Amino acid sequence: MSCTPELRAELIAEAKNLCGRCRRRFRERWLSVSRIVPGSAGGPYTAWNSHIACGDGTRGCHGWIEANPAAAEREVCQCGCGRPLRVAGEIRRGVFYGADDAYRGVVAQALAEALDAGGN
Ligand SMILES: [Zn+2]
Ligand SMILES: [Zn+2]
Repeated sequence: MSCTPELRAELIAEAKNLCGRCRRRFRERWLSVSRIVPGSAGGPYTAWNSHIACGDGTRGCHGWIEANPAAAEREVCQCGCGRPLRVAGEIRRGVFYGADDAYRGVVAQALAEALDAGGN
């Protein structure tokens, strides 16, 4: 699964091209979508599970998050969303399994909104 170009463009526009970690402004091509719960742990490419970070999976702040997940859990995204850059845990069938209670609420709300909208 990869991020749709539409969601990526939307998130970058919302972030005003600022990296969620270093807070510097970049051209769109230097920014990427970094998932809070990563894909390897079942995290989807959705607005509620994503930040915009400079670089990619191996370079820049996005690369740093992937290489230092434990440290990223202690850093809050600088976009003002108040969410950590990374949350330890797993999402299976819309349920969050992990120690972060705040994130459990985020996932539950996202699932409820998806059900309300008639989505899956
Ligand atoms: Zn950055
Ligand atoms: Zn953010």
